[in-house]
Amino acid sequence: MWSAGALSESRPSIPNMPVRDRLHQICRYLCHKYRIKVRLRVEAIPKSWKCLGCISYDNSDLPPLIRIDKGLSKSESISTLIHEFAHAVSHRRHGCAWRREYDGHDAEFALMQNEIENLYFYEDGDVESLEF
Ligand SMILES: [Zn+2]
Repeated sequence: MWSAGALSESRPSIPNMPVRDRLHQICRYLCHKYRIKVRLRVEAIPKSWKCLGCISYDNSDLPPLIRIDKGLSKSESISTLIHEFAHAVSHRRHGCAWRREYDGHDAEFALMQNEIENLYFYEDGDVESLEF
């Protein structure tokens, strides 16, 4: 019999820390894992943007900028960071988001996001990221 509860036994607990610090830590971990650079800001996102987070590219040589709304819960903001980070990796591997279907939310993106979610939630990425 398979039981999801068994996964959580004997795992170190995640210390409680401010959401902003935790997001930066996870972001450094993901950048290391995927060997890409992004910038991260946790800030107030205007309501009119109608999003929890976003990623933007400008014409400079700077890495893409991920913004996460600072009003989110910790779990919401981690999911949002993973979503935006998946855009960054998919942009690199599969081509510019704005030239792809559904504003870049195509099948390749979905697989990328799923891979990162599995890494973080099921392959101990949450614990491993504590060292970053
Ligand atoms: Zn998106």
